[in-house]
Amino acid sequence: MTLRVFKAYALVGISVASALALTLLTPPLHDQFKFLIFALAVAVSATGGVLPGIAATALSAIVADIFLLPPLHSLVLSDPGDLTRLILFCGFGLGVTWVADRFRHYDESVRVAAAIVESSADSIVRQDLEGTILSWNRSAEQIYGYPAKEAIGHPAMLIVPPGRQEEMQQLIARVHKGISICSHETVRTRKDGTLIDVALTLSPVENGKGKVVGVSSIARDITEHKRAEEALRQSLNILGDQARHLKLLAEMGELLQVSSDPADAYAVTARFAQQLLPGSSGALFVQSISRGTLEIALRWGMARASEMDFVGSEECWGLRTGRVHQVEVPELGLLCRHLPDPPPPWFLCAPMIARGETLGLLHMWMGADDRSTKEHLVAHSIDLSWPARTMAERLALTLADMKLRVALRTQSICDPLTGWYNRRHMEEALERDICRATRSGRPLSLLMLDIDNFKDFNDAFGHEAGDVALQNLCRTLKGSIRSEDVACRYGGDEFLLILPDSSAEFALQRAEEMRIAVGQSTLQYQNRWLKPMNLSYGIATFPDDGRTSQELLRAADYALLRGKNPGRDRIRTRGEASEPTTKY
Ligand code: GH3
Ligand code: MG
Repeated sequence: MTLRVFKAYALVGISVASALALTLLTPPLHDQFKFLIFALAVAVSATGGVLPGIAATALSAIVADIFLLPPLHSLVLSDPGDLTRLILFCGFGLGVTWVADRFRHYDESVRVAAAIVESSADSIVRQDLEGTILSWNRSAEQIYGYPAKEAIGHPAMLIVPPGRQEEMQQLIARVHKGISICSHETVRTRKDGTLIDVALTLSPVENGKGKVVGVSSIARDITEHKRAEEALRQSLNILGDQARHLKLLAEMGELLQVSSDPADAYAVTARFAQQLLPGSSGALFVQSISRGTLEIALRWGMARASEMDFVGSEECWGLRTGRVHQVEVPELGLLCRHLPDPPPPWFLCAPMIARGETLGLLHMWMGADDRSTKEHLVAHSIDLSWPARTMAERLALTLADMKLRVALRTQSICDPLTGWYNRRHMEEALERDICRATRSGRPLSLLMLDIDNFKDFNDAFGHEAGDVALQNLCRTLKGSIRSEDVACRYGGDEFLLILPDSSAEFALQRAEEMRIAVGQSTLQYQNRWLKPMNLSYGIATFPDDGRTSQELLRAADYALLRGKNPGRDRIRTRGEASEPTTKY
């Protein structure tokens, strides 16, 4: 037997005893009033449950008939009057018991529901159609920071930030039409003004007739979840950025490998630097042999921050430290001296170092009006030091390789003393130019030059002076050479010029110019004036004097000899017909 049943029987006992006491202590009362006392006793006892209620009713009826109703102890069940009364008592008691039981069930459901609402981890708030808060559970107090007494009776918009009120009104309007809203993610304001992310479920509250009389809103605080989501998103962004940087660097590396000259390499780097940080500006400074500083090679985007054409190694923290210098907050970072005033809001200097040598500087910056990109960089913790350094190093390596290639090629095709092409290169160039001349049907002349009595010169001034004189001669002759001509040191004191698109007459004119220039050239060596030089010139022209390189070289050599024989300092063609008339 449960405690509840015991309580019920106890109540029955107390009720009956009270009724008996009243009967004994008070003057005789009217039967109906006694019946009322009995009915109240039964009603109270009925709160114990259906079975205790029935038992209490029956017992009370018997006790009442025996002890309360006159004549005392006169309960005779065969008496229709007694029986009717007993049945009436029992019926009444049962009715009361049943009604009490329904109320108790209802009351219990309400208490269970209230307990669930209170113990829920979600905030559960009920509001009426006007938007006034009617109920506010414990979690609502914790999530929003308002105690129930400060929230109940106030508008529900209390916790909706201004920017979300219109959205809320639209949602509520839908709920008033009977539509439920599930897991709608939005923002709420706490009492302290901080914003929190919540997942909101709004449902209509209906009365017994199915009419919407309010709105219940269940909100789950998803701020932490959102933060974790944001952190994950940021990590993914960083990974994505790194993957993008790697891809860019790989593509840039491929293009640098096939770049044929520094200008190509600069253009490739500029293009990828812009892709690395869209909207940024930049400049490339490269080593200038003449000035000993870094000279502007290319700039892109806004010119403002690279108005300087030169950067000295002392003016840049990147160059000084040999590492990437990136400043995100100009007020806090070390500013390079080559920056303009005011400095850009974000900048980076990546020295271009290859094989221990600083070959240049990659400088990138963001304009003052492009703060959103900078904020994006800072917000997403995007550090461009690594990709920028890799970019600068790859360009530096490419430039170093190009320099090396150029040096090797120059060594293999040029004469080290004069800088003119050597004989091997001359032979290749001559074959190529004869092919072109054959295709185009245009003439081509060879001009062969040999210094007169150079042995004597060497004997008189020494071999070193002879070397200096050879270099000086080549400088002098350069003044009469076109860009398309090929100037070679044929061997010893002998030189050969390939003159494309040149007739014998044109070659004669050029030779004459040279003869005059050489004649006017003077040279001092070790405080001694050196003897002016004379040269003999032999001209052979394609196709008249030969159609192959051997034929043409033989013809030019033959013409040169023809100049030497009569006394040197002469210009001769192979054929007598082109013998010049001026003094040769
Ligand atoms: P010719 O007028 O007949 O040409 O008389 P030449 O003395 O110039 O005779 P030739 O051309 O046969 O001699 C070339 C001389 O040039 C021989 C050599 O002493 C000199 N020579 C060749 N190469 C160099 C060089 O690199 N430096 C110096 N100083 N002299 C050279
Ligand atoms: Mg000579």
